[in-house]
Amino acid sequence: MNFDETHITIEIIKSYQAKLLDSVRSDVLIAGAGPSGLLAGYYLAREGMKTVIVEKNLSPGGGIWGGGMCMNEIVIQEGALEIVREIGVRIKKTGQEGLYCIDALELASALTLKAIQAGVRIFNLLCAEDVCVTDQRVTGLVVNRTTIVGQLHVDPITLKAKVVLDATGHDAVVVNFLKKHGYRIFSPTGQMMGEGAMDAPAGERFVEEHTGEVYSGLYVSGMSVCAAFGGPRMGPIFGGMLLSGKKAASLILNHIKTSVVREG
Ligand SMILES: Cc1cc2nc3c(=O)[nH]c(=O)nc-3n(C[C@H](O)[C@H](O)[C@H](O)COP(=O)(O)OP(=O)(O)OC[C@H]3O[C@@H](n4cnc5c(N)ncnc54)[C@H](O)[C@@H]3O)c2cc1C
Repeated sequence: MNFDETHITIEIIKSYQAKLLDSVRSDVLIAGAGPSGLLAGYYLAREGMKTVIVEKNLSPGGGIWGGGMCMNEIVIQEGALEIVREIGVRIKKTGQEGLYCIDALELASALTLKAIQAGVRIFNLLCAEDVCVTDQRVTGLVVNRTTIVGQLHVDPITLKAKVVLDATGHDAVVVNFLKKHGYRIFSPTGQMMGEGAMDAPAGERFVEEHTGEVYSGLYVSGMSVCAAFGGPRMGPIFGGMLLSGKKAASLILNHIKTSVVREG
């Protein structure tokens, strides 16, 4: 074989540059590659939406990997079984009617693989550090290398999209950026309402029901829903996260399709 180390370097730079350049403007930009963000991305890309995820950590999967207190098994309920089967993850029956166990590593890996194979571009080690707002509408994210944020005085770059999804979990970082800049969100108080105390069944219902648009052009899924709208926390049960991701994808798809009709 006729190559040296510089050929390897050149191919990495060329391939990454092409991927990044093609992601500067997308249909949907998702902050956070946890269960809800990955699943939303999977469904959106499958419907032909150009979908980009920025993930601040090295590995996508968010809170899945650790299961409950580092026991890498997670629980899902009946309503999410169809989604889990669709992505090819094996399900184990439990002694409790309506509850099932899944290997956490299998779920995190399957969600990541399915999303990427459906066409989602996932950029790991890329951190959302602010939001773009144009004419009272969220239009993109300001991003920087995770290793730079808070360490070095280096300017970020900007990615724009028709719709942005905040799937950053408990911190609801994009909603927090709006708060920082003084915008009122679509919650009953106009403010971020903060996550409530643990109540797993109520939390699971809440997260699915309240998944939706939180500001013009910005949707929330997963634990960000609870942070924005004041829902209970629910611990290592993940059905609600998956159902929330699926619902977010369906609402966003509808949003983009109806915007196209409205704007001619
Ligand atoms: C420490 C910990 C505490 C937990 N506590 C609870 C709890 O109290 N209640 C509960 O119901 N569940 C809890 N869980 C379980 C589980 O994490 C969540 O329910 C579930 O993972 C949330 O899914 P999600 O899709 O909302 O996002 P998450 O799984 O939280 O994933 C969010 C992703 O967004 C990424 N992200 C965050 N900020 C940025 C940024 N600025 N830019 C780019 N990416 C970003 C994160 O790295 C992460 O990968 C906890 C998990 C962990 C690890």
